[in-house]
Amino acid sequence: MSYLGMFDWYEPVPLIKCVSCEAVPADWQGKTGPNALLVWRQGHRHPVRQCADDALAGADLARFVLPERFRFYTTCENGHELLFEGRTSDGVWIDHVCLMA
Ligand SMILES: [Zn+2]
Repeated sequence: MSYLGMFDWYEPVPLIKCVSCEAVPADWQGKTGPNALLVWRQGHRHPVRQCADDALAGADLARFVLPERFRFYTTCENGHELLFEGRTSDGVWIDHVCLMA
């Protein structure tokens, strides 16, 4: 399977509120990780799952880590575009900052 042109999903913990309207958007995506339809959850070193047919699991997921800096974005239910930059420590997503609202 080729993952060309794909992306990853990002799950901030705790959830991030929109900086403009306080809606809580879901479906954060980003293209600065492995881009293999992986689901990255804050506080975890490796992806928690893969959203794909014949999804990788277990040791295969453990081959992936996030870079030191990565970006993820979404649009809230009221149309506000949100872009965040995340930071890892020892490969674990530990925090993030808002780059624009
Ligand atoms: Zn909003």
